[in-house]
Amino acid sequence: MVFNFIKKTFSGLNKTRKNIVNTFSKFHGKKYLNENEIEELESILFQSDLSYDIVDNIINEFRDKTLSSSESWEAKFVELLKKEIIIDDKRVNGERVILVIGVNGTGKTTTSAKLANYYKNNGETVCLVGADTYRAAAVEQLKIWADRLNVKYVSNASTKDPASIVFDGINAGLKSDSDRIIIDTAGRLHNSINLMQELEKVYKIADKFDQKMRVVLVLDSNVGQNGMNQALEFNKFIPIDSLILTKMDGTARGGIAVSLVNKLKLPIDFIGVGEQIDDLVPFDLDIYLEGLIKNE
Ligand code: GDP
Repeated sequence: MVFNFIKKTFSGLNKTRKNIVNTFSKFHGKKYLNENEIEELESILFQSDLSYDIVDNIINEFRDKTLSSSESWEAKFVELLKKEIIIDDKRVNGERVILVIGVNGTGKTTTSAKLANYYKNNGETVCLVGADTYRAAAVEQLKIWADRLNVKYVSNASTKDPASIVFDGINAGLKSDSDRIIIDTAGRLHNSINLMQELEKVYKIADKFDQKMRVVLVLDSNVGQNGMNQALEFNKFIPIDSLILTKMDGTARGGIAVSLVNKLKLPIDFIGVGEQIDDLVPFDLDIYLEGLIKNE
């Protein structure tokens, strides 16, 4: 399983890695970098969506650096990135209720199904709740996944009130003794006040159940620094516990993971690395960083 996760993380970071590895390979054997090389590195790091501050720190370190014979530029790069990722991870990892939120199209529904698959493969029982009252297709899609995965599924096409579906869903999940109750909510723009208030109501209902809950924001890794704004806006209405970054496989901007953790101080639970049900891997910082620089 772990080997599989490593392989999938590496393959998901393929596009991001390509430019970074190419650039570093030109530096092999060099004890210091000239100004052209520094500039090339700077531009490649920006393209990977590492934030300005992080790139600036790395570039400043590299500009004055003379490498000793036991050091490599890649190892130094990883060491500096690690320093940027310090999170106060308060998750207990046993949360029974998982509220999946985010803007439309980020991959929420797919990710909810992938989570169900992940926990099921871990030997846990899962209940999926389709609480997207705006998009019938999302609810149908989730039902198809639930049937395929053979997990419990709760939704209600006759109501437009997501809070009532969440209430019923959690009740049903508890009654059937599910280890995880995964709730797929409707996509909403972070600047739509009405929809955000609706989400707040959903959260409050779910929170009444005296069960440990985790609020997971799904972000498309292609959105770059805008993901930061989405997280900050959602967080004004309900407290986000962690992130899932989707579509890592389709982007060369996978550096966004470091920037997000650095700025938001939120952990990344998983990354999405494809459209298949098992294309979701637990985020492991060391594997991720190695995936950025691994020379295949
Ligand atoms: P929602 O509107 O947020 O619920 O988004 P969906 O779950 O419907 O996903 C939108 C599209 O993104 C679908 O075509 C998914 O297959 C695709 N998708 C979701 N996650 C990933 C991922 O990690 N990688 C890739 N390549 N596609 C993904």
